[in-house]
Amino acid sequence: MTARIIDGKKIASEIKESLREEVKKLKSEGVIPGLAVLICGNDSASQIYVRNKEKTAKELGMNSLVYEFLENAGENEVLETIEKLNVDKGVNGILVQLPLPSQIDEKKVIEAIDPKKDVDCFHPENVGKMMIGGAKLFPCTPAGIIEILERNDIEISGKECVVVGRSNIVGKPMALMLLEKNGTVTVAHSKTENLKEVCLRADILVSAVGKAGIITADMVKNGAVVIDVGMNHDSSGKLLGDVDFDSVKEKAAAITPVPGGVGPMTIAYLMKNVISLTRGWDDEEFTSKL
Ligand code: NDP
Repeated sequence: MTARIIDGKKIASEIKESLREEVKKLKSEGVIPGLAVLICGNDSASQIYVRNKEKTAKELGMNSLVYEFLENAGENEVLETIEKLNVDKGVNGILVQLPLPSQIDEKKVIEAIDPKKDVDCFHPENVGKMMIGGAKLFPCTPAGIIEILERNDIEISGKECVVVGRSNIVGKPMALMLLEKNGTVTVAHSKTENLKEVCLRADILVSAVGKAGIITADMVKNGAVVIDVGMNHDSSGKLLGDVDFDSVKEKAAAITPVPGGVGPMTIAYLMKNVISLTRGWDDEEFTSKL
């Protein structure tokens, strides 16, 4: 079997096209969605992600503000900026690019963001709602993955779903969202024994580890759907996923490539969240859209 290669870039551009229309509609009502991104330090990957987010927001007709802080910035500087943005009516979504330099407490910074502007859905209030129901917002990467699965008519309900990785950003919310869609979910991590056996159970295998080639063909069941979240660089700077793409695509039914799979969906979903937040917490349309 040779897998269907899922074109995340194409799905993302379809989403962005519809968002462009939403922005036009909002503008005709006198509202321009605004995204504020805070970045600390010179991490080159973070710089690229922030530029991409800024570029996409502008392409869609939104306002995009980037606040850059030095590597040695004080925690208070960042917190004070968040406080101002929380009450700025022109700003609908606030995002702090992670990781932060060690002198800044990530938890404190995330908790300082108004949950109603928490476009990444990392604030404990929003995470809690995701856990117990009633969430109006979902984190971009796992939400983008659910959208990939649904748009490709991949059934989640009743299926064995294995998520490798348990970060707060990807693995844990991914597991919750698959559970919410009635998947039978297993979460694997660095302490998991027999990772191969666990992965072999999966009808849907999501890898969010950050180690190139950790998922090999012998860990994948024939006909499984394989979603590769990993973004790793080899010594020449080439972007690689977690999955050994060439061999796994011969066994899987469908697979996301890196680049061009999950990455573009994450950004598209971020923009979708900005628009949802612009519509407002109590807006019926906001609730029904998620
Ligand atoms: P983290 O480093 O926070 O988490 C990695 C997870 O992988 C941890 O839970 C860790 O386990 C687990 N892990 C590490 N080694 C192994 C192993 N040998 N076997 C099984 N599990 C292991 O990373 P993130 O979740 O933030 O990101 C994961 C990857 O996804 C990265 O490559 C990142 O760049 C990429 N990413 C891509 C995005 C996109 O849009 N495409 C968005 C966000 C991230 P433990 O908890 O036990 O340490």
